[in-house]
Amino acid sequence: METIVKKAACYCRVSHEEQKLHGLSIEAQKEDLKQYCKRNNYKIYKFYIDEGLTAKNTKRQGLQNLLSDLDKFDIVLFTKLDRLSRNIIDANLLDEKFKNNNVCMKAIFEDDIDTSTADGKFTFNLKLSLAERELDKTSERIKDIFRYKIERNEVISGSVPKGYKIVDKKLAIDENTAWVVKKSFDLVEELMSARAAFIQINTVYNQPTSLRSFSKLLKNVIYTGTYKSKNYYKENYCEPIISLEQFNNVQRILKNNKQYTSNNRKETYIFSGLLRCSHCGYKIVGHYSNRSGKNVIKTYRCNRYSIYKDCDQKKSINEKKLEKMLLSCIVEEYKNYLYSFDVSSKKTNSIDVSQNKSKIQKKIDKLRELYLNDLISLEDYKKDYAIFTQALKEIESKEVTKVAPKDADKVLSILDNIETIYYNLDATERKRFWSSFIDVITIDGNYNIDIKFL
Ligand SMILES: [Zn+2]
Repeated sequence: METIVKKAACYCRVSHEEQKLHGLSIEAQKEDLKQYCKRNNYKIYKFYIDEGLTAKNTKRQGLQNLLSDLDKFDIVLFTKLDRLSRNIIDANLLDEKFKNNNVCMKAIFEDDIDTSTADGKFTFNLKLSLAERELDKTSERIKDIFRYKIERNEVISGSVPKGYKIVDKKLAIDENTAWVVKKSFDLVEELMSARAAFIQINTVYNQPTSLRSFSKLLKNVIYTGTYKSKNYYKENYCEPIISLEQFNNVQRILKNNKQYTSNNRKETYIFSGLLRCSHCGYKIVGHYSNRSGKNVIKTYRCNRYSIYKDCDQKKSINEKKLEKMLLSCIVEEYKNYLYSFDVSSKKTNSIDVSQNKSKIQKKIDKLRELYLNDLISLEDYKKDYAIFTQALKEIESKEVTKVAPKDADKVLSILDNIETIYYNLDATERKRFWSSFIDVITIDGNYNIDIKFL
């Protein structure tokens, strides 16, 4: 009887410190994995190796390579969990990525890390939820300690806001720097402009600072004596440097200084240059961006509406939403497009064809609406989308067309792996990716799109 031989990716890792301290070696891990594969009838696809990483250099190229090869093997093998990830929660994040490609993982020396069997999956999930619960408890404990300290007006981190120093675990006014804080607020009130105040602080008062930290300082409510963070709030936490009244007044001025508060860092709009308004044909351009930490919200709007206010398409388009939608349909769309070149002979009654086409197109639009309104899941959306586009494809195959693009194969091979690759790209790379094969996307405020490929 012939059995199907499964292909395994073998992952090995050893850090610089481990090599030095314990003599752990890649060779030993490789050997163990080789033996295991031999015993269990796995064919080794490739070894992925991260060697000699230091605490500072944690970029794991081996793992990155493994993640971009996920369609090439069936299982990821490693000796122990700590080779693959720091903890079981991180392992789960990796496992999510594996699962999307029907790849499972197994630690050959730890029975409870094995997602290749139903039993193993169950144990893994159990361990995962235990670990998550433990983590919750730990962060609760930390919160309790912080709350306790704040209640007693004690500092909880070593970072001290300008104008203060730490005395007996508490914030106390530092006369050497407090005047700069006071002066900063006074200048904003006097000049009615944060930017003008910023320039004076740097030049006239010779207190070098960046616009970013200057703006942070002006927004820090600690200077009124109040501690405020996401989780805690306490008045009379420390001695105030400015009055609440002055603080509020400065906040109002900041709000009015539009060009100052608008982000001083320029965002890359991924789809700039690619979008056209389906109502008026004008370009749809980057309209608004707001960054809070790692999250950026970026939207687009019809430029004709922005400038002349005379297009009916007033709604703005959310970049994240558009990305998600395009990713879910781009492969089908592009294949459809290519397919239309393949069959150039059978021309049927073109009226029938276009009627059927628009019927199906309407169904697709309806489906998209359901998805965007959260009435169906992404999975259902993808499934039905595939069915409809298949039908469209069949109709279109009967239509006559021109010559296929030269780079189609290259684009297709990239598209086949797109979901694993795409989210590792930064904004500039994403922009380059879309514009490498798309000419124009015509779109309306309900995300109905029509893609014209290059
Ligand atoms: Zn328009």
